[in-house]
Amino acid sequence: MKSIPEALKVRGRAVRLARWNPRATPGCKDKDEAAERLAQNLARIDTLQYRLYGESRRSLLIVLQGMDTAGKDGVIRNALTVFNPQGCRVWSFKVPTPDEAAHDFLWRIHRAAPARGDVAIFNRSHYEDVLVVRVHGLVPRNVWSRGYKLINAFESHLHEQGTRVLKFFLHISRKEQRQRLLARLDEPLKRWKFSDADLTERTRWRGYQRAYEEALARCSTKYAPWYVIPSDRKWYRDLAVSEIVVDALEQMNPRLPKAKLDLKRLRARLAR
Ligand code: ADP
Repeated sequence: MKSIPEALKVRGRAVRLARWNPRATPGCKDKDEAAERLAQNLARIDTLQYRLYGESRRSLLIVLQGMDTAGKDGVIRNALTVFNPQGCRVWSFKVPTPDEAAHDFLWRIHRAAPARGDVAIFNRSHYEDVLVVRVHGLVPRNVWSRGYKLINAFESHLHEQGTRVLKFFLHISRKEQRQRLLARLDEPLKRWKFSDADLTERTRWRGYQRAYEEALARCSTKYAPWYVIPSDRKWYRDLAVSEIVVDALEQMNPRLPKAKLDLKRLRARLAR
């Protein structure tokens, strides 16, 4: 059986989201198993981030994308909270401010890239410029279509400079989105999250799926892979993200600097 990172990684030049089942749970039997493994992964991430921070040479960038209600906030809360806030920052990218819009589209992104030793989590990202911008025709095709090449060059640059880039597309079905939007109306605690704009975006579902397919196909690279996370089942979504993060950090294998201490002498001094 393939590991979760292997099963969910996007390879090849064509992506058909219809072939990725959003309810699938490859590499995990059930919810109980997922809960157990998630707990283990969180403990592992805690230690590995500590080592990454101590090493202070490389960094980790986690990009979260998905349709409204796909669970970007949920993943941050359930699968990534374990990161020590000293050494981790979450960035949300919204409609560009006038200052941001006056610069090239990667300007605001690069400023948020993680410093050495740090983790950055992007809630939406530079990919909005080949997603919402494309679907809404905010700029002509010949402008947004150059984005893929620019994004690949940018991510390759980050990689060469020691940043590990992981990109997660949280894949939900249209039916599941309907349920989640209804839940936002039904549950008083969730109502604040409801926005009319979500319904407008929902009418553009196919356009978004096509835009995602192209972004995943053209920008899943060796140095910055995309993962399609089946996200109709939240427990699987959280497990899958945590597992891929652990796997990446384990491969990075950050090492704490060796302390050159004369323990005997120092203990003797502390004895006084
Ligand atoms: P979220 O849905 O992420 O919780 P909001 O409801 O504030 O937060 O939505 C942010 C909005 O900003 C989204 O509709 C997103 O498509 C939009 N957005 C992000 N980046 C860009 C961009 N570069 N150009 C236009 N719109 C963008």
